[in-house]
Amino acid sequence: MARSQLPSNPAPQSWRVASIWFAVATLLAAAIVVTIGLGNPLGRSTGDRFFPHSVTVGSVTVQTATDDPTARATALELDTYLQRLARGMGVAAPEATVRILPSQSVYARFCRRHLPGFDGRMEFCYSTTDRIAYGYHDGGKEIAGRLRHELFHHFVNERLPGMALWANEGGAELMESFALNENGQLTSDGLVQNRRMQGAARHVARSQRPELNDLPRLTARDFYGRSGDTCYSLSYAVLLYLHRQGRVFEALRGGSASVDREDFKGFATAPKRWSAPVSADGGSTVLRLKRM
Ligand SMILES: [Zn+2]
Repeated sequence: MARSQLPSNPAPQSWRVASIWFAVATLLAAAIVVTIGLGNPLGRSTGDRFFPHSVTVGSVTVQTATDDPTARATALELDTYLQRLARGMGVAAPEATVRILPSQSVYARFCRRHLPGFDGRMEFCYSTTDRIAYGYHDGGKEIAGRLRHELFHHFVNERLPGMALWANEGGAELMESFALNENGQLTSDGLVQNRRMQGAARHVARSQRPELNDLPRLTARDFYGRSGDTCYSLSYAVLLYLHRQGRVFEALRGGSASVDREDFKGFATAPKRWSAPVSADGGSTVLRLKRM
């Protein structure tokens, strides 16, 4: 039926086909323009041109989008940290690039556009694709600690690839608040992340999963998933515990990280140690712990 009608009505049919092809071509062209426009306006995936300002001190380069008077001091502090960390781990310090955006909103926009897998929940981050640490100015709050966290991931990526995820994140949390002395040792009077230890204490007291033996087996999905905060806290607590015993660098280098379960439980749940109040602005999320 339809077939026999075809020759009798050729003009509308070819017009219809032509307009379909026109629509398809237009959509394709639009898709190509959108892909080029969004995906690669500033240099492939890394957005190089977004950071015209650059300061290098030793092995660390800090790149910024606008002229940033704090960049040199940040580069100096991070270079000192990397050199000392490398000394403690017995390897050479890697070259490192850090990019600092002027605000959290610009940071989130940039990372969503340029970093594959960036999910918007991420605070400062480290991209293993371009081997660069990213952060942003946060209303005058100190950013060096959080950049130390990300540069620890860079250090592991460059010098100790294959480190278990729990040790990588726990170590980064440890470096965020502790200082290293000239010999690359964590200083004896460190700042402890109170919120992390409170989380670990609650978790250990309830004997919940994941427990110590689960840590090495956790996949990225497990670790960063629903109980992500707990995984960070537990990993941090284990490394703080190993630090107390002078074994943290040995453990991070892939040596023995064996932990006495009961002793660790006593350490993590010490009743008064982790009970200092946490202020709303996060200003006292660390507390000083003597004689570590
Ligand atoms: Zn991390």
